[in-house]
Amino acid sequence: MSIKIFGHQNPDTDTITSAIVLAELESKLGRDAKAYRLGEVNKETAYALKYFNVDAPERLDSVTEEDTVMLVDHNEFQQSAPGIEAATILAVIDHHRVANFETNAPLYFRAEPVGCTATVLYKIFNENNVEVTRELAGLMLSAIISDTLLLKSPTTTDQDEKTLYQLAEIADINLELYGLEMLKAGASTSDKTAEELINGDAKTFEMGERSVRIAQVNVVDVDELFERKDELVEVITKEIDANKYDLFTLVVTNILESNSKVLALGEHHGVIEKAFDVALEDNAAILKGVVSRKKQVVPNIEKAFASLYE
Ligand code: MN
Ligand code: MN
Repeated sequence: MSIKIFGHQNPDTDTITSAIVLAELESKLGRDAKAYRLGEVNKETAYALKYFNVDAPERLDSVTEEDTVMLVDHNEFQQSAPGIEAATILAVIDHHRVANFETNAPLYFRAEPVGCTATVLYKIFNENNVEVTRELAGLMLSAIISDTLLLKSPTTTDQDEKTLYQLAEIADINLELYGLEMLKAGASTSDKTAEELINGDAKTFEMGERSVRIAQVNVVDVDELFERKDELVEVITKEIDANKYDLFTLVVTNILESNSKVLALGEHHGVIEKAFDVALEDNAAILKGVVSRKKQVVPNIEKAFASLYE
């Protein structure tokens, strides 16, 4: 059976393209590997795949002890495929914190503190002297644009920037033009249901005893989304009840202005005030300069929980 390669649930552009790119690399190195996705392809990713003429991976619902897998763009089991505890994990290529991760067998584990999995993958291509085709370059640069919001996110490192320019040369595209079109393709919210908005890019984090759900939506018009606040509060409240979240945070990020407006619900919603030094008004607040869940939202909430309750 071939090696199954996939990223996290609620796949984003880095997760989808990194699975495709790593499967391609493994195949070129003589291993039988195939990319999968754990959820629907979002509009931003669909734009990138179409632009570079690449098919979306097949959907995978769960894995079993029969499976050998490689994980990209995540390592925490609660963000992975159901059944992951039983599968044999051969490799992890990631750029996130390491948590809730354990294996029985040795593995290749590579996590680097850079802005995107694609930045790590590009290095691995070069280390193995494998050629990066135009399609692969296009996929990897799309991932970097997505994860770094066109190099504007504080998660961006010099390596991401350098890699992005090199990939743009291989793919022969205008970064600014292509990047804005791709980000905008994913930023329309009017055609999405409230459920889609709060689940599209959502991750669960265990913070001490608490279960924190953090959803993020990239937009070009924050107010358009907040006009639907009542509807959002209703579906978020249902999610909190069903999954016993202690805090549900919806981060609405304006990708053109690099700010976010947050909506916080759940028993511990007040922790947001401490985390970002803001006052919540009707459970909402503007977070100036905040665009990164990984580097800003998660660590700030974690610190605030620690100082308030531990
Ligand atoms: Mn991701
Ligand atoms: Mn990523």
